[in-house]
Amino acid sequence: MSKNKFDNIISLCKRRGFIFPSAMIYGGLQGFYDYGPHGVSMKRQLIQSWWEDYVEKRHDIHGVDGTIITHQKILQYSGHEKTFTDPMVDCRACQSRWRADLLVNNQCLACGSTDLTEPRDFNLMFQTQVGPVQHAGSQHYLRPETAQSIFTNFKNVCDSIQPKIPFGIAQAGRAFRNEITPRNFIFRVREFEQMEIEFFVKPGDDEHWHDYWVNERYDWWLKQGLTAEKLVKQVQPSDDLAHYAKATVDLCYEFPHGLEEIEGIANRTDYDLGSHSKNQDELNIQATVGKNVDSVAKLAIQDPSDKSWYIPYVIEPSAGVDRGLLALLCDAYTEEQLDNGKERTVLKLANHLSPVKVAVVPLAKNNMQIIEQSSQLVSELNSAISGSVVLENTGNVGKAYRKHDEIGTPVCVTIDFETIGADDSPTENHQTVTVRDRDTLRQTRVSTTQLAQYLNDQYFSTT
Ligand code: ATP
Repeated sequence: MSKNKFDNIISLCKRRGFIFPSAMIYGGLQGFYDYGPHGVSMKRQLIQSWWEDYVEKRHDIHGVDGTIITHQKILQYSGHEKTFTDPMVDCRACQSRWRADLLVNNQCLACGSTDLTEPRDFNLMFQTQVGPVQHAGSQHYLRPETAQSIFTNFKNVCDSIQPKIPFGIAQAGRAFRNEITPRNFIFRVREFEQMEIEFFVKPGDDEHWHDYWVNERYDWWLKQGLTAEKLVKQVQPSDDLAHYAKATVDLCYEFPHGLEEIEGIANRTDYDLGSHSKNQDELNIQATVGKNVDSVAKLAIQDPSDKSWYIPYVIEPSAGVDRGLLALLCDAYTEEQLDNGKERTVLKLANHLSPVKVAVVPLAKNNMQIIEQSSQLVSELNSAISGSVVLENTGNVGKAYRKHDEIGTPVCVTIDFETIGADDSPTENHQTVTVRDRDTLRQTRVSTTQLAQYLNDQYFSTT
């Protein structure tokens, strides 16, 4: 896909109410985006699809929802205070600032100069003050990943749910990183959402489960609509691994700006639970980090066979909602030439992610009978179909179709004079509507009494 097409996607997102630059009326805020009516709907459905597949439909994964503001000690012991940094350089020629490892040929991306400062570490965490009085202990952080509150709630979940290993804890929510160079629309931003699972396993079983989650998550993205040829599993070289990881496989998508990560599946070993545990000597276990004197928790599992305690290993599939959504938009975005020579733009989204499921289009804007029957059909379909059914009353069917093609609405239903049984219309078409398919453009006449069943069978069945 060309860069030009990427610009068209960004423009469609704004024009059709998916995504807007944040604080636009004040000139915008770099690295922040707001979701509009259709964007938030698609985003929620993507998160819901993940939550349903992993938390609701599986017996071995449990959900949590932790706070965004994170205790300073958590991020101290997790290693983020020291190591959650990117190398930053300044361009001496134009004074712009860059992330050193993303530069090509060590050249400034703004002016091309190679006169750059030495890289220095820049911590990506946003700090914040808690409480009315500022003091050393009042400074905390906005979380840079959702994972940490899963680890700090490990004991709470074990004590309250008593899960049997292997088991997972899942969380979807906001994360914040003060990226040096936010770019490529919502690909690299400073506030974003993650969907993370921490899947706890016996040490020794970790490599098997790592492979399992890489394949499971790859297949899941295909089910959301990504094209297999554009989704690649990439093993991270060992010198690129994060401070906590034994092995990581990234799922990378072929974006217009290149092949880039949308999800990382890491083997985090016992690093995190070990870091947050106290009295590791007492547990008689080998943890990868030193003893934590601040935490009051023993984040370990007791082996029922010999009553010994051990810290489980953890496999972490960590997906970015915004990056995933951008990949899905890029994949779905299609410009096509029609038989009549005209062009159309259409978002071929998977039906379960489309912001609007059905648009009911009255053929004539001023015919009361057509409008009333259309409104009635909207309320009937809204009760029968899961998701949004809207009345598209512009009076111009062509415009309505174009709009819903661009939003990705899988099906439009048109109510015309034949539906209401106008005098000169064929009786076999009375109380029937035209169902127009977004992708094939096929138009089918369906009786109003069978419409809900037809749409559910053809478009929205969950099996
Ligand atoms: P990158 O190397 O691109 O900065 P990362 O390897 O640091 O990403 P992780 O820490 O593995 O990312 O985070 C898991 C997921 O969270 C990523 O795969 C991505 O989808 C998402 N993510 C991370 N940082 C950002 C960001 N700045 N903007 C949008 N999504 C992000």
